[in-house]
Amino acid sequence: MNQPSPSHSPSVVVIGGGPAGLMAAEVLANAGVRVELYDAMPSLGRKFLLAGVGGMNITHAEPKAAFLGRYRERQEEIAGLLADFDADSLRAWIHDLGIDTFVGTSGRVFPRDMKAAPLLRAWLKRLREAGVRLHTRSRWLGWNADGSLRLQTSAGEQALRADACVLALGGGSWARLGSDGAWVPLLEARGVSIAPLLPANCGFEVSAWSALLRDKFAGAPLKNVTLALDGAAPRRGEFVLTSTGVEGSLVYALSAEIRERITQSGSATLHLDLLPDRPLDKVLAALHKPRGSRSMAKHLHGQLGLDGVKAALLRELASAEQFAAPERLAAAIKALPLTLLRPRPLDEAISSAGGVPFAELDQHLMLHRLPGVFCAGEMLDWEAPTGGYLLTACFASGRAAGLGALAWLEGQTSP
Ligand SMILES: Cc1cc2nc3c(=O)[nH]c(=O)nc-3n(C[C@H](O)[C@H](O)[C@H](O)COP(=O)(O)OP(=O)(O)OC[C@H]3O[C@@H](n4cnc5c(N)ncnc54)[C@H](O)[C@@H]3O)c2cc1C
Repeated sequence: MNQPSPSHSPSVVVIGGGPAGLMAAEVLANAGVRVELYDAMPSLGRKFLLAGVGGMNITHAEPKAAFLGRYRERQEEIAGLLADFDADSLRAWIHDLGIDTFVGTSGRVFPRDMKAAPLLRAWLKRLREAGVRLHTRSRWLGWNADGSLRLQTSAGEQALRADACVLALGGGSWARLGSDGAWVPLLEARGVSIAPLLPANCGFEVSAWSALLRDKFAGAPLKNVTLALDGAAPRRGEFVLTSTGVEGSLVYALSAEIRERITQSGSATLHLDLLPDRPLDKVLAALHKPRGSRSMAKHLHGQLGLDGVKAALLRELASAEQFAAPERLAAAIKALPLTLLRPRPLDEAISSAGGVPFAELDQHLMLHRLPGVFCAGEMLDWEAPTGGYLLTACFASGRAAGLGALAWLEGQTSP
């Protein structure tokens, strides 16, 4: 896109009405730019609304260094984005919308009523009042040969011209909410290399659970356990047994490492501590207590409180020989090997890894190959665990792309 001449009133097209695109639109509209925002879906912010269903965890209150560490190998790039709009700025921005927030016991930050809908409603109202024109059922299809944007609408295909464009098209999970990853080949066709979209914060599959375990315990939570991958420090939390494997917050927290290990080695073996509050010698001492005529199941329940899904998983994964020798059984209870073979499909994941690499972007999130085109949100190549880190980086990158487009309009950046 050509840089606009100073004489005409500039306009920007934003494609994608999730948190990143809406934030870019807000920054631009507040600076007096004409903003047209298009989204393929019949309404905006569908994934944002879904994120609010189980309690909208919008950011996290932990110290900055720990916060940035959540973005792993992308922490430097994300630090650059958060320098201008961090967790505190995000909370202040939410308060400005008339929505109060609170910090939960784990440090997670939520809107007072835990919901996304009131926030989105207030935000869309404010955007409309700021002059942003919001268009739904409008799918971006790429570019025409003359550089105009191709847009599929109910009235047919349109060609759009603008002084700059912000793409905030989301990742590749939950396609039915709009983020279908269909943008990947459109950017690749323009010479932008894209890191493959991969499931993040996702469940994983095992070889096969026994019918007994699957039928009786699929959906059951394993609470207060730890999981460790490859001798790394164990992480405590809970996860859920599924019909094909495991999912839930503790698995999501480790999902990047698990996925990478599977890519390298074909599988990932985690060690599960079913009783993290009891040291090995105490577990062994309990197992050595006389069992009398009681069954092993009753013994495990009576001495160690192991029952339900925990006991069933121990029975599934430990061998008969381990059950026959207290030392070996105690070791299995403290470090039960759980081998995962593959992630669940991308579409089921909470978020996706991969996307537009930062190397393809300048410091304003403008594509080197497509001057005047900016990218923001989950479509960028970063990942983070759940805990509010996803939305925080989406908001911050939307703001950075909006400010980048402004700088472009003002002639402060050049291709
Ligand atoms: C079940 C679930 C729970 C979650 N909970 C949390 C949470 O508690 N905390 C947290 O931080 N994160 C959470 N997330 C993640 C968070 O919702 C996403 O990271 C965030 O919505 C991504 O924002 P985005 O603006 O980049 O993309 P999206 O919100 O995905 O928005 C992209 C938009 O682009 C539109 N679009 C895509 N392609 C086109 C096209 N070709 N033309 C026109 N429009 C297009 C889509 O319709 C969509 O509206 C959750 C996600 C899921 C699935």
